[in-house]
Formats: sequence, C-alpha cells, structure tokens
Amino acid sequence: MPQIVVQNIIPHQSSWQKELGQVFTDPEKLLQYLAIDPTEYQASFKARKLFPVRVPVPFANRMVQGDINDPLLKQVMTSSDEFITQAGFSDDPLEEQDTPVPGLLHKYDNRVLLMLRTACAVNCRYCFRRHFPYQDNSVNQQGINEALDYISAHPKINEVILSGGDPLMANDNHIIRLIESLSTNPNITRLRIHTRLPVVIPSRITDELLNALKTAPFNVIMVMHINHGNEIDTEVATMAQSLKAANVTLLNQAVLLKDINDDESSQITLNEKLFAAGIMPYYLHLLDKVNGAVHFDVPEKSAINLMHQLYRQLPGFLVPKLVREIGGEAHKTPIDLGLMPN
Ligand code: SF4
Repeated sequence: MPQIVVQNIIPHQSSWQKELGQVFTDPEKLLQYLAIDPTEYQASFKARKLFPVRVPVPFANRMVQGDINDPLLKQVMTSSDEFITQAGFSDDPLEEQDTPVPGLLHKYDNRVLLMLRTACAVNCRYCFRRHFPYQDNSVNQQGINEALDYISAHPKINEVILSGGDPLMANDNHIIRLIESLSTNPNITRLRIHTRLPVVIPSRITDELLNALKTAPFNVIMVMHINHGNEIDTEVATMAQSLKAANVTLLNQAVLLKDINDDESSQITLNEKLFAAGIMPYYLHLLDKVNGAVHFDVPEKSAINLMHQLYRQLPGFLVPKLVREIGGEAHKTPIDLGLMPN
C-alpha cells in the first residue's frame, strides 16, 4: 500500500486538522490507494498543473476500490479532458472578481459573501473558482475588520454568507471571534455557512463549534455541498444530526455532473439520503461554465428531463430547485421546467 502524503503535522492539532493534513496531492498515489493501476492514466495527471489535486483520506475511503468510474473519484481525479476549451467557457464564469473590500462580495442588497478562507479541504475538478485569484483576495484579521466595518456601514445587510474556498478551514477560535463580532450588529439576522469540509472530513464539526453555533443570537444555516449519495456515510449522517441538535438549519446544494449524478437513480438516492440525514435538498446547479470543466457539463434539456422524472418519483420537498448562475446576474436563475411542481 503506498504512503499517504502527510503535510504540516503540528503538535496539539485537533483531529480534523490532523485529517486535513492527510491528503492525496498526487493522482497516481490516489489511484494506487484505490487499487487501480495508474499506468494508462499518466496523461491525465498533467491536469494537476491546471488545478492542484487535493483529496483527504476520509473522502477517499468512501470510494469503491478498483473502480475508476467511482462517482466520488471522478469529482476529484485529473482528466485529460481538462485541456478541452469550448466557446462559452471562461476562467471567471460568474464575473465575480470585482470586490469592494478584498474577500467581500456584495452581490445582493441585503447579503454579503465573505471569503473567510481561500483554500478548500478538497479540490473539486469542476470548481467554478478554480481560476479565482485567491492570492489577491486572501483575508487576514485586518481584512475581516474592514469587512465588518463595511457590513456595519450598510444597514440593509441582514445576512452574512461565509464562503471561500471553504470557510470552515478557519479554526474554531477564528470563527467564534467572527460570530461574536457579528453578534454586536443588530441588523444581522442570519449567518449562512457554505461548506464542503464537514462532508469530506466530518470531524470538522467540533463541540466548540457546535456550541458557538447553538448560542449565536441569529439563525445559522449551513449549506452543505454533497453531489452523490455515496458521500453520505454513517459519520456524515452523525455529523449532520449534531448540527441539527445545535439548531442549525441544514440545506444541500449539488452540482449536476455528467456521468456522476445525472441519472434518475443517483438523484433519487442522493435526495432520499440527504433527507434521512436531516439535510434538505435546496439547489441543483447546472455546471458553471469554467475552463477545465467542459467534460462535466450536462445539457440543459437533459437536466430538465431529469427534473421531470424526479417530480414523478419524489415528493416535491425532496426535489431541489434546478438553477444556473449567469455571469453578472445578482441571483441564481431558476430553470423553467415547463411543469408545475406537485
Ligand atoms: S469545495 Fe467548493 S469551492 Fe472548494 S473546490 Fe470544491 S466546489 Fe470549489
């Protein structure tokens, strides 16, 4: 069995921080770990120059040994197809690289999006921010203070969305301090956290974090990012239950990905498993047309057909909204399905 790359082991780290350091950055080693002969996939490894590989061990452990088509592996594995260029695809499909304060996006009147951390625990190959100039938008404490000042100076803002990268890459002390600061602003009624970290490393939801979320004076919503039912194992379900017990509203947004979750069975299983874990299906995103992700794209017509099947098979509350982000638009655009939801 090949060695797992172990990075930055520092004494006194909590368990999630140790797991964060146990990560595959070499696609060849990941394939060997999964008992897949890497010989015929050498050409695909060059795509790591386009976007680094990063796969934590707890996520790799949910992949099926020996299966190159595993739906979790395909989300994180390099592909020669990443070199394909196509009209309509760009480096910044959401046209969001214009920020009032570094790390702060103010796209909506009453909401701001704060990029608390610029890295992720996992690098998803379809990520719409794979070309984002994170180095220009990294947020230090001074940046956070500027963002808080900006939020205070705009009293219409009642919701702060923590995004990234992945905001839960910040340590608990950092997040607790931010919650305390936001607590002094009476306009804030909601804190929303967009994260994939607890899905790939469930131990990220610590008791300290749970306590801070439970005692916050505003509603806390955590929007998970789970694309396939196989991502939800017992540990993830237990993590979700602990968040629910701390009064956190749990939603999920998934991305519709070709040959990963673009069939009826995968979607039914995903949404049933989400609900069983206490997470409500929220959005199903059409792919953001980012360079390097052409091979993940599902045509809109196929997505609409899939949605029709889901409405026939699932109760309405288990069917996520099909949406697309359009560059420059302030909000997501719902896709017209041509039918009334039941
Ligand atoms: S977790 Fe989200 S932001 Fe991070 S790489 Fe994946 S899709 Fe991109």
